[in-house]
Amino acid sequence: MAAQNDLPVPLLDLKAQFATIKDEVMAAVTQVFDQQAFILGPHVDQAEKALAAHLGVPFALGVSSGTDALLLSLMALGVRPGDGVVTTPFTFFATVGSIVRLGAVPLLADIDPLTYNLDPAQVEALLSRGDLPAPPKAMIPVHIFGQAADMMPLMRLARAHNLKVVEDAAQAIGAVYPGPAGLASIGSIGHTGAFSFFPSKNLGGAGDGGLITSLDPDLAARLRSMRTHGSHPQEKYRHVLVGGNFRLDAVQAAVISVKLKYLEAWSDARRANAADYDRLFTDSGLVDQGLVSLPQRAWPSEPRTHVFNQYVIRATDRDGLMRHLAAAKIGHAVYYPIPMHLLECFAHLGGQPGDLPQAEQAAAQVLAIPIYPELTPQQKQRVVEVIADFYAQNK
Ligand SMILES: *Cc1c(COP(=O)(O)O)cnc(C)c1O
Repeated sequence: MAAQNDLPVPLLDLKAQFATIKDEVMAAVTQVFDQQAFILGPHVDQAEKALAAHLGVPFALGVSSGTDALLLSLMALGVRPGDGVVTTPFTFFATVGSIVRLGAVPLLADIDPLTYNLDPAQVEALLSRGDLPAPPKAMIPVHIFGQAADMMPLMRLARAHNLKVVEDAAQAIGAVYPGPAGLASIGSIGHTGAFSFFPSKNLGGAGDGGLITSLDPDLAARLRSMRTHGSHPQEKYRHVLVGGNFRLDAVQAAVISVKLKYLEAWSDARRANAADYDRLFTDSGLVDQGLVSLPQRAWPSEPRTHVFNQYVIRATDRDGLMRHLAAAKIGHAVYYPIPMHLLECFAHLGGQPGDLPQAEQAAAQVLAIPIYPELTPQQKQRVVEVIADFYAQNK
């Protein structure tokens, strides 16, 4: 198939989105500067209230990053050196990094090859092993690429083994899980939910930021205290816990408050783009020929279970395809090329190639292509045409 246009397509175009909300964002940021109130205060309070309402949780606490949302969650839940924390090898570094920073031990279970999320059967097998390197105390399911992990069986296992659950919701703000009591917001199922406002996430700030959600008032109070060095809620310089400086900036809160109003529309646009790609790839014949496989929905009848922070295909000769895409100026990325158990900084944990075969195979095959809300029909068509060209030339 000959390419019908030669548009470059970036992986993410934050300028396209900013152009649509610039006046509102700049007015909100100017207000923070006029007030010279940069630490916590009314903008952070207001953003937390709006986010809690949006996510259907009683408590939402702005923090300094998604990484710190994970770290502070584990600290407040009492994860200590030597404790085991069950999680996935197929995630961004921060998930496992937070565990190791606390002196705790990651216990990695393999993923479901269709959704890339933790496979509950693998978690069950892991937890029944007699030779775990550390006693399991917590679990971090990651809602990878924006799709809800299968929380019901994971929560059942967590209850059976008395594990605290931190949902890594950094990529999945606004996604829902079809639970026994109806649809539940991601981040409202475990003991805490950890969200990120990193600019490339679906709700991105103007720098680093994050959020912790919780249903438990006592835990929320502990998180709030530990966010500001474990200080007493009323008495300044009286510290009742050892926390850290995990605060969200007022400037970030002001930006997030503006952008939150558009989040649902942006998630809808991402899902519509995903459906368009599904159709374009299927029509191209690449799927039937087994050259490309499309992202799979765990719950096809409930589209809101996926917010498509990334649209990730599996591709034959992925690295060759990447060179072809680079030459055609089509944005793409591999999330993630090295599973956690094979990273050099975790070598002391003894992971070996072959330990977690589904995660390793995914790392060798996955490729993310542009999915941001403002993509045009011509851009989506161009992306699929360039990929089809690659396979036509390499028959
Ligand atoms: C982005 C991300 C984080 C970390 O968020 P930051 O705000 O960048 O610290 C953690 N986990 C996952 C899965 C992420 O994608």
